[in-house]
Amino acid sequence: MSEQVKHILYIEGLTVSFDGFKALDDLSFYVEENELRVVIGPNGAGKSTLLDVICGKTKPEKGKVLFYEKIDLTKMKEHEIARLGIGRKFQTPSVYEDLTVFENLAISYPKRKTVFNAVFSRLSAQDKEKIEKVLESIGLIDKMHFKAGLLSHGEKQWLEIGMILIQDPKLILLDEPVAGMSAKEREKTVGLLKKIAPGRSLVVIEHDMEFVKNIAQRVTVLHQGKVLCEGSVQRVHNDPKVQEVYLGGYKVAAN
Ligand code: ADP
Ligand code: MG
Repeated sequence: MSEQVKHILYIEGLTVSFDGFKALDDLSFYVEENELRVVIGPNGAGKSTLLDVICGKTKPEKGKVLFYEKIDLTKMKEHEIARLGIGRKFQTPSVYEDLTVFENLAISYPKRKTVFNAVFSRLSAQDKEKIEKVLESIGLIDKMHFKAGLLSHGEKQWLEIGMILIQDPKLILLDEPVAGMSAKEREKTVGLLKKIAPGRSLVVIEHDMEFVKNIAQRVTVLHQGKVLCEGSVQRVHNDPKVQEVYLGGYKVAAN
């Protein structure tokens, strides 16, 4: 390769307005290749909107959103962005409740886009092996034949992470993956994210400080559509501006 690309995400001057209200306000945000970044911030800070722009669901008013410092994501459609290797998990789990865990993964497999194909056409040994590998990493190998509707809330979240993993994305965007989970499930999720992080980049939105401490390398704090502070967990935790936002009347809510 002639030049080394450092940033998988290169975002500058990003502004998103809803009826004149700036959900993101001249935001700059950079994520390096193979980095696991955690984004925190109070409710309404613009965290989900940031992911919406990256995955093409929301188009910005202004700003640069580049993948590998070159590909302009603001010009692309959602499915094109997904095909580039960007996988996104929304806040609420959306699995196919009537299909089994295995079938949910099979249907998410690239090239097997219909239920008919996923369930009835023969999977190659290689496909099966890949699905089993994902089942193992999300801890659901023993429940592969369960209907997804029977899973606990936490297990559905893991299955949805699996449905992203099976597509082998370069960049994974997770919006509050531990929301509504028990302490034990949160702990398991930390292990899962650490296991899947090597070899790809992750942006994880969260507000639970305990979780953030366990997982984070670098943390970005968003507030009112801007970066309030960025750095190590310790640095962010000790920043007076961050303490003011978190303690001074802004409620940290679940969405
Ligand atoms: P967070 O995920 O940090 O809680 P969001 O990105 O969901 O915050 O929202 C940021 C702000 O933008 C909030 O004030 C929210 O009400 C507003 N907002 C988000 N999406 C829309 C939308 N589609 N239409 C209007 N306002 C929106
Ligand atoms: Mg949100």
